[in-house]
Amino acid sequence: MLNVTKKIDGKVAVITGGASGIGLAIAQTFAAGGAALALFDRNAEALASAAADLKDAGARVMTAVVDVTDSASVKQGFADVVNTFGTVDILVNSAGIIRMDEDGVRDRVKHLDMLTTPGPKQSLRVTSQMTDKEWLGNLDVNLNGTFYCLREALKIMEENQSGRIINMASQAGISAIAAHSPHYTAAKAAIVGLTKCVAHEVAPAGITVNCIAPGYVTSPPFLKGVERMGDERRARLMQIIPAGRFAAPEEIGAIALFLASDDASYMIGQVVSPNGGVVI
Ligand code: NAD
Repeated sequence: MLNVTKKIDGKVAVITGGASGIGLAIAQTFAAGGAALALFDRNAEALASAAADLKDAGARVMTAVVDVTDSASVKQGFADVVNTFGTVDILVNSAGIIRMDEDGVRDRVKHLDMLTTPGPKQSLRVTSQMTDKEWLGNLDVNLNGTFYCLREALKIMEENQSGRIINMASQAGISAIAAHSPHYTAAKAAIVGLTKCVAHEVAPAGITVNCIAPGYVTSPPFLKGVERMGDERRARLMQIIPAGRFAAPEEIGAIALFLASDDASYMIGQVVSPNGGVVI
């Protein structure tokens, strides 16, 4: 287990998207910080494997196969957590889809080439070609899923008059870093707005709401996508990152632990952006 001070000892943390990447790294950090974990994910197999590893490392873990786009499934997930652990103290909304499939990589490459190749520029033609299905599908997971989980957690936290909510936005929601993904960008910008608005609403009840807006993080889908881009483009992508590297998921875990702990009791509606200096 990581060497982390037990800053959230005995707290109950729900982590959506907890079976992989950033969500899993946050789960590992929170376990080391002393929390009991409830992992939500739609991928049952990955969920079981993540939970087994965490239990082996000594964590208290339960899992729920939840599709965050289905509000009934989200409601059931939170009911299961209350049945098992009695309450919810912390929610991390990390479930999401980063666009690293074949089409996503094609559009990323077009964007990177537009930024880094000399000569005449052309429109990326992403938004004009986007289908309703692609647009709505992305918003459903990345935005609606965040809202459904936030809503259920608040019902419990408002009763408790305390709680910590951490939403996963992205540098994409702050700048044009993901100009190849307008739906993702819109969803993440909306998460920033939602975070600020709800943070004011519930601060008087002792509940803090903040978001993390990472740059490039080496989760499994990100690494797979970068591999598809090829070595030369990977090197060019690296050139636009002042830190000269991608972030490790654990680096996001450390920020989430801070925001979930008493150290962050005066952080209300903030956007913390570990982006390696990328601000395009
Ligand atoms: P990941 O694929 O490793 O993790 C996402 C998890 O969410 C997966 O386990 C997946 O099964 C789950 N998930 C997806 N849709 C779901 C649904 N409908 N219901 C329940 N679970 C669902 O990806 P990641 O890169 O770790 O991404 C985690 C979060 O971080 C996302 O919100 C993403 O937008 C955000 N983010 C990632 C990066 C990056 O570079 N990797 C950068 C900025 C923000």
